[in-house]
Amino acid sequence: MKILILGGGGREHAMGKKLLEDDHSIHLYFYPGNGGTSIIGRNIENHYTVLDLGFFAKKNAIDITIVGSEFFLLEGVVDIFQNLGLKIVGPHYLAAKLEGNRIFAKSFMEKYGIRTPKYNIFSCYEKAINFLKKNTNSIAIKTNGIAAGKGVILSHNQNDAIKALKNIMIEKKFGKSGNQIIIEEFLQGKEASIISIFNGKNIIPFLSAKDYKKIGENETGLNTGGMGAIVPNPYITNSIWIDFKKNILEPTLKGLIMEKLTFFGFLYFGLMITYNKVYLLEYNTRIGDPEAQTLFPLMKSNFLNLIQSSFQHQEISIDWKKLCSCCVVLSSRGYPEKYESGKIIEGVNSLKEPFYIAGAEIKQKKWITSSGRVLNIVGIGNTIQEARKKAYEKVQTIQFENLYFRRDIGL
Ligand code: ATP
Repeated sequence: MKILILGGGGREHAMGKKLLEDDHSIHLYFYPGNGGTSIIGRNIENHYTVLDLGFFAKKNAIDITIVGSEFFLLEGVVDIFQNLGLKIVGPHYLAAKLEGNRIFAKSFMEKYGIRTPKYNIFSCYEKAINFLKKNTNSIAIKTNGIAAGKGVILSHNQNDAIKALKNIMIEKKFGKSGNQIIIEEFLQGKEASIISIFNGKNIIPFLSAKDYKKIGENETGLNTGGMGAIVPNPYITNSIWIDFKKNILEPTLKGLIMEKLTFFGFLYFGLMITYNKVYLLEYNTRIGDPEAQTLFPLMKSNFLNLIQSSFQHQEISIDWKKLCSCCVVLSSRGYPEKYESGKIIEGVNSLKEPFYIAGAEIKQKKWITSSGRVLNIVGIGNTIQEARKKAYEKVQTIQFENLYFRRDIGL
């Protein structure tokens, strides 16, 4: 069995490690991959378009391709692979709009009664300003297109909101992504992510997760790709889970079927819990990072079997270890803005599993940093506290110049 995984972060390394753990005979290919994936499989080193990747998969008789990063989805990789007769896990281009086009996603949520914060859409700067002048509450301003975690600006006063609007709509800081914007009601609450497998008929949720998006402790500073995560999310109580199923999951499934947006892949619900009600902030159409690195060590089921059964539209259920998991992301100081790479990392070879390489490569037998997020260190325990303690003990064994990590993951 040959499997190609698209992406080059800790999430893709985690998927690869899990697949091999379940079945040693699998041959893994990664595009572009990283230093970690080069050890467990083959990184494709040429610079390829998604069409080139399709031809590569055909030529090399790849059995299944799994899309990790959203970048490939928005390039239409699933449609191209399917047209070439290849099996691929991910949404086709139209369904990927649930992630890539916020107005499309919000309209879908509204049409199917999926609970989401109230919103207004603007393509005219003056109209948006007039709206802001009448509205003194905190708000979230969102570009229509996604912008690598930067297309959402949370504003608590009118001046900041006006400045943000000017940046997006007049100065075009996010390019075309900001031609249309959403102004959304701001919700104060606890965030949660629920990832699921969608097999075209059913949505089968994973355990709940909580990710830590901001660079600074106590959720301060800039948004990042994610600085850590825990599983399960302690704020997802039984009643919140029931609320999620009734007001978000079930109407989403109905909508996907009615709109013929069915696909086989992952669906991620970005949630906000406030006053005992859960709201949907966003869909992603792939597994989250670093949620993947936190979830896979707890998955008992054979991941490849889940994928294959889903392809055959068989009913699936996922078994999980009754444990907790905590992932701490080690990054280069300065990330998500300017940072230096090329630093020697000490301690990787003696790290105990689970851990994943995010942005590091091997040069002359040494581990070297190559990106903003470098390593994902995971602790597993009976409680979040125990998992957290184990993760941070392992973190102490790693050193590199300009190492930065948050000390409050799972607190
Ligand atoms: P991008 O599209 O630029 O990659 P993203 O997809 O990460 O960004 P979201 O997840 O929709 O964008 O929002 C980013 C973060 O902003 C959320 O995780 C949440 O913390 C906050 N946020 C978004 N909408 C709201 C809201 N209505 N109320 C409060 N906080 C919000």
